Amino acid sequence: MSAYRGRIAPSPTGRLHLGHARTFWLAHQRASQASGEILLRIDDLDGPRCRPEFVAAAIEDLRWFGLDWDGEPITQSAREASYQDALLQLARIGQLYPCFCSRKDIQQAAAAPQEGDDETIYPGTCRPPDPTPIDVSTWDQFQSEFNQPRDGRVPCWRYRLPFEELIQFTDANFGAQTFQVGRSFGDFVAWRRDGLPSYQLACVVDDAELEITEVVRGKDLLASTARQLCIYHDLALNPPKWWHAELLRDENGQRLAKRHESLNLRTLREAGANPPDWIQEWCRFA
Ligand code: GLU
Repeated sequence: MSAYRGRIAPSPTGRLHLGHARTFWLAHQRASQASGEILLRIDDLDGPRCRPEFVAAAIEDLRWFGLDWDGEPITQSAREASYQDALLQLARIGQLYPCFCSRKDIQQAAAAPQEGDDETIYPGTCRPPDPTPIDVSTWDQFQSEFNQPRDGRVPCWRYRLPFEELIQFTDANFGAQTFQVGRSFGDFVAWRRDGLPSYQLACVVDDAELEITEVVRGKDLLASTARQLCIYHDLALNPPKWWHAELLRDENGQRLAKRHESLNLRTLREAGANPPDWIQEWCRFA
């Protein structure tokens, strides 16, 4: 059996478009070329934006596009206990702190977001000067003793990045990557104030627990890879390899998004398109 295991991870917040299909097709190709496995993970932690009908539609559209996967789909919303465990581990080693800032507070205090990343850099308002390990053993204890509102505000929990460090890794498609903490991104949210893990934390926990050996995803997530490597390090987990894909753009150079209705897989299918025809055109390795 091959040691390669990849995954495709749609977020069911809308219809899949050709950009998603292309990234998933590349992930699928990488797994097939290595005679490996590929899993389907449904990233459904984005509260009300994720809808069950989009899960069903994604599965149907992926199959129509000609993609398949090994085993049953894995659903993030069913894996909360693993995320809670990881959060407690990070809290115990002092890598987290509660943050009471509103989005507006952060925008007013922070520098403008950096090119290529839409997250405003957190200015460190709630960051304690030194790491503050939390002596906690269970999730219930964490909730009742530490995850408490202050002045009527419920906290989110931020991951404490090392200051002024370079995070470096090699991407199998784009080569050497370097991100500077504090310039490329700041302390990011690990646990949201609505009670759910952030994408960064959930993604690390899943990829590690599912023993993914290579993550294939869009180039827009290169900075997320740098963030996630910090979590791998702190949880003493082995990171996978990385292969980021160029993003598909429209004729004006804009990334494909929900507004590109005509490039939804469903719309294309209803218009009588035939996936093998475009695989050549849209999905080749650039
Ligand atoms: N659900 C995430 C997305 O669609 C997955 C990103 C990843 O592959 O890690 O952006």
